[in-house]
Amino acid sequence: MDVRRLGGRIAAARRALAAGGSRPISAWIANGLVIVSLVLSSCDLLRLCSDRDRRLRFPLGGREFVTVVCQLASIVYLFSLANTETPASRDQGGSPNQTRADADADAPEALHDGVEDGDEEIVAAVVSGALPSHHLESRLGDCHRAARLRREALRRMTGRDVEGLPLDGMDYQAILGQCCEMPVGYVQVPVGVAGPLLLDGVQYHVPMATTEGCLVASVNRGCRAIAASGGAVSSLFRDGMSRAPVVKLPSIKRAAELKEFVEALTNFETLAAVFNRSSRFGKLQGIQCALAGRNLYMRFTSSTGDAMGMNMVSKGVENVLGYLQTDFSDMDIISLSGNYCSDKKPAAVNWIEGRGKSVVCEAIVKGGVVQSVLKTTVQKLVELNIVKNLAGSAVAGALGGSNAHASNIVTALFIATGQDPAQNVESSQCLTMMEAVNDGGDLHISVTMPSIEVGTIGGGTCLASQAACLNLLGVKGPNRDSPGENAKLLATIVAGSVLAGELSLMAALASGQLVKSHMKYNRSSKDVQGAAS
Ligand code: ADP
Repeated sequence: MDVRRLGGRIAAARRALAAGGSRPISAWIANGLVIVSLVLSSCDLLRLCSDRDRRLRFPLGGREFVTVVCQLASIVYLFSLANTETPASRDQGGSPNQTRADADADAPEALHDGVEDGDEEIVAAVVSGALPSHHLESRLGDCHRAARLRREALRRMTGRDVEGLPLDGMDYQAILGQCCEMPVGYVQVPVGVAGPLLLDGVQYHVPMATTEGCLVASVNRGCRAIAASGGAVSSLFRDGMSRAPVVKLPSIKRAAELKEFVEALTNFETLAAVFNRSSRFGKLQGIQCALAGRNLYMRFTSSTGDAMGMNMVSKGVENVLGYLQTDFSDMDIISLSGNYCSDKKPAAVNWIEGRGKSVVCEAIVKGGVVQSVLKTTVQKLVELNIVKNLAGSAVAGALGGSNAHASNIVTALFIATGQDPAQNVESSQCLTMMEAVNDGGDLHISVTMPSIEVGTIGGGTCLASQAACLNLLGVKGPNRDSPGENAKLLATIVAGSVLAGELSLMAALASGQLVKSHMKYNRSSKDVQGAAS
């Protein structure tokens, strides 16, 4: 062990003493004892060196040995005192290349604000690996303190500061076991509001969490054009969340037999009864099967009330798999999800069969509004839609991507309202269509979105800021009178907002305004100066 490391250890022990409940007294006692030991051992050494009869000789005798050890220990202790980092030097932050071993060797540093008894020891234990970081919440019984100490341990282990990542202002108890493990803070995403969106005769102010300049302004313009033309109309034509386990049978014959059994109409009632035991909101709607050799994929679809429903459907599927194993004991369950569901991946099955809520939404935008608000013409928009959203997407081989930027609106709304942002993959599948109507004078625009996966209960919807955004839309929590209605309404608002976003971006492209408006809203001079410096 080198001297620096030894000094670090002793300094750590000294600071641990100081961090304890009797901090000042124990530190003073320790310092006093060391000074006394240094003085006594120095006197003894001097006497030994000057005494001709009892000169220091090797091997050392018992008393001489104790004197030398006391002398050395006192010097190392005082050396460690001198080497203790000052708060100022700590604030510089560690080297980016500092390793875990270095962090280990270094003495624990004093914590910053809100220090509590024992914090120092806990952080040191996390840094050394003696206390797993994910045990902090259960060990401390205080989620905010757990996040604060984990963050400090992270700073020491990496040598990097996370100062800009806020710690206070988040209810860490609320996310425990629900939204996020091992939290160290939260990321701030600004929320803008577009609207009012006039949809099915009701005005909605649409919260959008985004860091893309221009997006909220653009959707806002689309909302204005729609409202000035009498509003948009939506229709939800399918509502069912899916989960598709994969099972393996000994032969293709057995796999085909299971497929036949599962798909037989006569067995549906029994299977549905088994499935529906999982929740009073989960009602099995159908099971669609696909074979791949002796593997069978069974796509269960179920209504899920106001929940997005993945957990609910998964539980129901587990029930049915258990039931099937009584008749098909040779069935090997490979995975609860076999990707035929299909969750968070671009897939034709969602595009064709739908997943979550399937919604279509339309508006007839008056020719005058196209001119005055959107600064383009009906004819230009219709042509652009054919060439870009239909032909262009075909050229690109897009799957459900026959639109201009549906995912922009879907993702911003998902983040604001506590949806699973990863489900924007399938939720953004959208076919945008435009036609000239009323003798070519007005524009008919529609969006068809087969896989909008949203909920107003469960997941991130319970968190305060996300719940506030749901509340703004009037869809917070479960709908007690008619379970499922809040989630359905949210899906139609998503589609209506996409309609507004499509209208506005397409108009910006048709009129050649896109770059100009992005330069205005997306590239502030402050930003450019910052990037250049
Ligand atoms: P998800 O399946 O979206 O992950 P969860 O199943 O985890 O959501 O959360 C939904 C929970 O909320 C379930 O326990 C369910 O019983 C409960 N719940 C209460 N009211 C409703 C409602 N109106 N619709 C759906 N679920 C509800």
